[in-house]
Amino acid sequence: MAVVQRQLVVFDFDWSMADQDTDRWIFEVNAPEIRRWTEDNEGKIQFTDMIAQALRDAHARGVTRDQLEHALRIMPFHPAMVRAITNLKAADKTTFFCLSNANSVYISTILKEKGIDALFTEVVTNPAQWEPSGLLALRRRVDPSGPQHSCAVGCSANMCKGEELEAFYARHAPMYDRVVYVGDGSNDFCPALRLRSQDLLLCRTFGGLHKRIAKEGGLQCTVKYWTGAWEVEEVFKTL
Ligand SMILES: [Mg+2]
Ligand SMILES: [Zn+2]
Repeated sequence: MAVVQRQLVVFDFDWSMADQDTDRWIFEVNAPEIRRWTEDNEGKIQFTDMIAQALRDAHARGVTRDQLEHALRIMPFHPAMVRAITNLKAADKTTFFCLSNANSVYISTILKEKGIDALFTEVVTNPAQWEPSGLLALRRRVDPSGPQHSCAVGCSANMCKGEELEAFYARHAPMYDRVVYVGDGSNDFCPALRLRSQDLLLCRTFGGLHKRIAKEGGLQCTVKYWTGAWEVEEVFKTL
């Protein structure tokens, strides 16, 4: 390929940049009975709405902001991923973009804890904020009372990651010479379909993305499979 002067790395958050799922982890740490409730209701209630309800329930049961923040700070996050991002950013031709179905508070809390929050140009996710009572109030990225996204690939109602990726490209034109997308989940399939032949998808082996690629295909980009963050670090060294 031609020399890459300007590249974009897009990170899904849960089970991609991080080695756990924030939405499930914080209840596993602080309120296992609510974790069970989310397990029993997944697919019955829109996912972001379900987590918003679970956060209200946790608050009503006395789970505090400090407890939730502590759970986020101790969530598994591989040191090799911190090194991979820090070293690639230092090489000075890469923009980092986090695109996630978690929420703004989870992600900013963890990125700050790891010392890498300033390396990300944007984080696009569901908006959340702490209320004075200690409740973490969470909303969908796409407001349910307004216009909805038009995705036909199967993205959840709260956000189409493919549309968000293209909106990021438009905000940061001209187009990048190369896009590297790190993902694991079935909702990473829509943006992956929009990657070009010169782009690279780093697909974690144990999520829904791997299954959808095997079943549905249709990707233009190169796909590399990985399991541990140390492998992402190896790939980043070649970029
Ligand atoms: Mg994920
Ligand atoms: Zn979509």
